[in-house]
Amino acid sequence: MTRVGIGYDSHRFVAGRPLVLGGVTIPSGRGLAGHSDADAVAHALTDAILGAAGAGNIGQLFPDADPQWKDADSMELLRTAHELVRGRGLTLSQADCSVITEEPRLSAHLGTMAAALASRLGVAQSAISVKAKTNEGMGFIGRGEGLAVIAVAVLEGR
Ligand code: MG
Repeated sequence: MTRVGIGYDSHRFVAGRPLVLGGVTIPSGRGLAGHSDADAVAHALTDAILGAAGAGNIGQLFPDADPQWKDADSMELLRTAHELVRGRGLTLSQADCSVITEEPRLSAHLGTMAAALASRLGVAQSAISVKAKTNEGMGFIGRGEGLAVIAVAVLEGR
């Protein structure tokens, strides 16, 4: 059986925090606001994996009102979500993520992000794609207020 899920996440840029995307800290004057480390790539992909399995969403699994997830390593939340769906007989066969942001330029970091995601998930790097694009100056992303990520996950299993 093949199952497909989609995930979306957005976070606001703030000064004084590192920018962490796909488990990689990226040189940037600003990071992302959030209860956890605000890794929007990990969050969107977590939701895509959970969605593909019909296993709810990241907010249900790791409520941001729960102090145990404050400053959490989102890559670990992602790994945990994948373990949960593996427990249901499903495994990630492919993922594709698009980061939408005006800045910083991410092209030099996309391969590193894909490798970090594949490593944490225990899948081949060829299974993971990370892309980046701008929003052509439009809307909250265009004004540099924040960024967004869309992810698709394909699970195979019984
Ligand atoms: Mg998030």
